[in-house]
Amino acid sequence: MPSYVITEKCDGCKGQDKTACMHICPNDLMVLDKETMKAYNRDPKMCWECMCCVKICPQQAMAVRGYADFVPLGAQATPLRGSEDIMWTIKFRNGTLKRFKFPIRTTPEGTAVPDGGFKTDPAADDLKSPLLMSEPECLYVDSLPTL
Ligand code: SF4
Ligand code: SF4
Repeated sequence: MPSYVITEKCDGCKGQDKTACMHICPNDLMVLDKETMKAYNRDPKMCWECMCCVKICPQQAMAVRGYADFVPLGAQATPLRGSEDIMWTIKFRNGTLKRFKFPIRTTPEGTAVPDGGFKTDPAADDLKSPLLMSEPECLYVDSLPTL
């Protein structure tokens, strides 16, 4: 159930070189039609339904048709992302609307440490290790049991 653009709402991100949906799509699917200034999903069958484009679109011009098992026919799940939280608007089949707001950050915007501060100087031999990059520190143990 791939993403699609609600063309009436899309403003082509005001003609920037790279639109928000192009920037965020992990599968490089979104394209801007420079003539119409509307974006589109160029290969819907490759869409992972990750909803990144839906969350980032500043015009709320993107949607994903949810699978019927978690979004029954006629229902909708629409995210609205803020800098501190995300609001999900759930429309039930009978038209009932409910909104749920969740925090999405534990640190002020721009201060997150990408590696979590666990390892700043990985060695080449770490590639051969069965441990994850943050282990064993993240498990609060000195070492992991071995066979
Ligand atoms: Fe259109 Fe939204 Fe994509 Fe911008 S992010 S080009 S407004 S669909
Ligand atoms: Fe790309 Fe995810 Fe949007 Fe599909 S739902 S177009 S994979 S960002």
